[in-house]
Parts: sequence; structure tokens; C-alpha cells
Amino acid sequence: MTVRLPIMSRSGGGARRQLDGLAQAHPEWRSWLNLYAETLRASEDPTWADAVPVLANDRSPIAPLLLGARVPLSPRQADAWVRHLLTIAGREEGPQSGALAAAAESDRLDAVALLEATINQDAPRLAALADAAGVDPDALGAVVQLAALPLLRACARTLAPLVPQAWNGGCCPVCGAWPAVAESRGLERSRRLRCGRCGTDWGLVALRCPFCGTDEHTQLGSLISETEGEARKVETCETCRGYVKSVATLRAWSPEEVPLVDLASVDLDLAAIDRDFGRPTASAFDLGLRLTDPAAVPTS
Ligand SMILES: [Zn+2]
Ligand SMILES: [Zn+2]
Repeated sequence: MTVRLPIMSRSGGGARRQLDGLAQAHPEWRSWLNLYAETLRASEDPTWADAVPVLANDRSPIAPLLLGARVPLSPRQADAWVRHLLTIAGREEGPQSGALAAAAESDRLDAVALLEATINQDAPRLAALADAAGVDPDALGAVVQLAALPLLRACARTLAPLVPQAWNGGCCPVCGAWPAVAESRGLERSRRLRCGRCGTDWGLVALRCPFCGTDEHTQLGSLISETEGEARKVETCETCRGYVKSVATLRAWSPEEVPLVDLASVDLDLAAIDRDFGRPTASAFDLGLRLTDPAAVPTS
């Protein structure tokens, strides 16, 4: 099934150039883009590379690498970084800015637990932590989602050589997230799924739903851009009603570019949602990752 869609502009270029372009074109996205710019700056801190994951010995080969992993992270570094980003979020205009600014100062804010819950996509725990800090869970979650990116990307860089070549799953082989967007890469248009968190890219055969795994071609369809054709489209699945956006690119996007491409293609999300397709609400794996204090004496 192919449905044609009206479409807006395509994104391109490096992350910072792309970020500036989006801020110019979409003043309504400026708050998020300001926070993302701060995240990019923080990612340049070389100490994130100290967070070398200790992988679980009993992990199944079909599970993401970080399943059950322990990742050392200084509580002081985590606390300073999360509070810094919350302070910036508190300066933006918005109904939750006052609460976010207050949370940045609150002694009830548990930055390590927040990062852990976010990485594990543990919504109930995140809601409980937001409640303790006196903030709306969605508002806090959006900020901490960004706060987790420097750590997740550092982990992905460290673990890149361990990603199985034969990985053919629908979720990220490193952090277990569903793909944010798919690249249709190069002249050969190879399909590469991209993680919007750690930035990992992985292959999945073209005619397979990343969410339910069906390769029944009568169940798979696409919503095609009116002006850009195959260059920007939504791949849909009738079996699980899931969708993934697909954007053509000549080169691989950097990990930092993926969330920007995801944002710049929000029109495709709206088109998919308008036709009753959705993204899975449940994560692919209960990651069970633990952030550990490198200064603490190990107990096991
Ligand atoms: Zn990932
Ligand atoms: Zn499906």
C-alpha cells in the first residue's frame, strides 16, 4: 500500500549546522534545541569515556550489549550534569520551567537514579522519581532523556567493536531502544536503522518490521512524500500497526545528527499517527542496567 503525503524540507549537514538551521526555521523548537546544543557541548567532556560498561556474563546473544550491564559513573558528575541541564531547562519559557528550575535545586533530586531509569526506559520508576522531585514526569523525562545521551554515546563508542555483525534485530544492539529513524543510505539505498539515544546503526533486511519482525510483504507498506518520493517516507506494518521513518542520505549520519533528523522529520510522524500507526509503547527489553559508583567497594 502506498499513500502520498505532503512534505516539508529535508535535513542535512553536520549536527551543529543542522541545529542552527532548525532553530532558524522553527523558532517553536528553540527550547529543545538549546538543551540539545548544551548536550552536544557536554558530550565533548572526555571523562564520559571513563564509563566503560562491565557486561553481564549471562547475557543472551540476541539481547542488546547493555542488558544487565554495570556502568561506572561518578555520582558527583551525574548530579552536576543533570542539575546543570535542568537549570537551563528552567530558564526556557514553558509551563514547567519553574518546576524544572526548582528541581535543579532540590535535595530530593536523585540524578543517578534518574539517568538509570531513563536508560532502562523504566517509566514507572521515572514517574516516582519525578514525583519525589515535585516535577511533571513528562517534563523531567524530556530533560533527562537528553542528559543520558553523553553517557550512552560514550558507551556505544566503547562497545562498537562488540556489536554482532549478524545482528538482525529490530532494536538497538547496544542500548535496546527502538530505531528513531531509518537511513536509506548511499546510491544502493541500504537500509540502516539508527538509535536516537546511543547513535548506533545496524542493518535490517528491507522488508521486515523492526517491531514485530513480520516479513509478510502484504502486511508492509509505505507512506510516500508527495514532493520527495522515496527520499522521505514512512514504512508501515499492518500486523502491529507500527511505523518507522525512512530518510535517504548519501552518507551515514553521526550519532549527534540522529535526534535532529528525527525532529526534522516530525511531519512524517504526524502523517503516520494520522493514519493510526504508532510507535511501540513498550521497550524491546527490560535492560536492567545499573550505574555504579566507581569509588565504592564492589559488593559482588
Ligand atoms: Zn542505542
Ligand atoms: Zn510490525
